[in-house]
Amino acid sequence: MKKIAVITSGGDSPGMNAAIRAAVRVALAQGVEVWGIRNGYAGMIADDMIRLDSRSVGDIIQKGGTFLGTARSEEFKTLTGRQKAAENLHSRGIEGLIVTGGDGSLTGAKLLSELGIKFVGLPGTIDNDIWGTDFTIGFDTAVNTALDAINKLRDTASSHGRVILVEVMGRHCGWIALTAGLAGGAEIILVPEEPFNQEDISKKLLESRAKGKQYSIIVVAEGAGSALELGQYIRANSGLETRVSVLGHIQRGGAPTAFDRLLASRLAETAVRALMAGKTDIMIGFRNNQCVEVPIADAVGKKKEIDPELYRLADVLSK
Ligand code: ADP
Repeated sequence: MKKIAVITSGGDSPGMNAAIRAAVRVALAQGVEVWGIRNGYAGMIADDMIRLDSRSVGDIIQKGGTFLGTARSEEFKTLTGRQKAAENLHSRGIEGLIVTGGDGSLTGAKLLSELGIKFVGLPGTIDNDIWGTDFTIGFDTAVNTALDAINKLRDTASSHGRVILVEVMGRHCGWIALTAGLAGGAEIILVPEEPFNQEDISKKLLESRAKGKQYSIIVVAEGAGSALELGQYIRANSGLETRVSVLGHIQRGGAPTAFDRLLASRLAETAVRALMAGKTDIMIGFRNNQCVEVPIADAVGKKKEIDPELYRLADVLSK
């Protein structure tokens, strides 16, 4: 394989730049020409590609987001759109692709490979919901951003004796809430995977006050329910003073942590080597401190559940 392209697609996540940088430099070291596709599959269809050399990926390892841009493309979901995209790659002689993105982006790559483009995927999403990998690129940074907010909110919760509800990202999965909540010593963690009852939460908070807790932190994954509504309910039903903080998109940005930079670099190197070895339709995952090849059909279309052991531990430690 003489020419490959790199692409970031779907929701951005910190560490995507580190993945691009590593993929480009590993490929160049093997004498392979590398192209960068701008703005995800939309850019692939629009033929928006730039030739990348080693210098073009300098000064990005420390930056969040993706310097190539990312986008969502409805057109790519159609066969005609994918045919146009594949034609643009073929006409440049690009035979292989390194795709960093979430479940949707990897599904798209799988369909593109049916048109003769080999690909190796990298799990890039802050949600950590991709099957076949212990961690996704960007998750650790997002958790640390949420944790930083929890630490700060804890100070003010403590000073005023309040209940603070922190809403974090996670529409379908509670990995960020569970991990940041556990690390931040939250009293209650609400995730989409575990339904809850507002009345029980309110009672639990009153019980903990009776046991001497002066304040409480509740971490709510956005998919578990609205922190704002829960805060109002708690205030109305328990008389406790509540404040709500919705973190939103700050969790998607920021300088990637050391963990995410290393993860991205290691996964990307393995991905390029696999592509060079003629492999396709796989994702490189990270399991037990090793980079592993995961058949794409196993990785997409199913969600990685939160770790019940972590959930149990968070509960034990919140007493
Ligand atoms: P993520 O990759 O973060 O899960 P999306 O689900 O939005 O984000 O997917 C990103 C892009 O991947 C979509 O805009 C679309 O271009 C492509 N994609 C997603 N699902 C499919 C699919 N089923 N078939 C073809 N392309 C898809």
